[in-house]
Amino acid sequence: MTQATNQLRAALYQHKLSITHARTAVFTALQNGGPLTMHELIKNCGATVDRASVYRTVALFERLGIIQRIQIGWKYRIELSDTFQHHHHHLHCIHCGSITALPEDPELEKRLQSLFQASGFAAEDHTLEVRGVCRNCRVNKKDQLIRPGKPGLS
Ligand SMILES: [Zn+2]
Ligand SMILES: [Zn+2]
Repeated sequence: MTQATNQLRAALYQHKLSITHARTAVFTALQNGGPLTMHELIKNCGATVDRASVYRTVALFERLGIIQRIQIGWKYRIELSDTFQHHHHHLHCIHCGSITALPEDPELEKRLQSLFQASGFAAEDHTLEVRGVCRNCRVNKKDQLIRPGKPGLS
């Protein structure tokens, strides 16, 4: 039992919920490979967890703040919330669709917090998406790289 699984158990226990096979599977899949699309998540949970259970678990986890959605145009991906992994910002490649995490930057976070405070805003959390073209796409596909239009409009 990993520390994260203990954390999951504690989070569920707070709401008088028990840890089930489906809940562990969804959590582990996200821990190993987030952020995932719903399709990837269902696949990574394996054959022992049916589709409906994954959807139900995602809805529950979202309600409990265990996971968060990353909205990309009209699509979304799911990842563990900041409580269960380090806070980070996302780089979203509009060419291949990959999402990578930017390294944490305490200075940037401090700066953001002071901006929120200066606005008199009690910020609970934040997400930051940066859209562009990833290193892989820039290196490997330089020749056929056509500058894509606005995501979601193609
Ligand atoms: Zn890319
Ligand atoms: Zn941040």
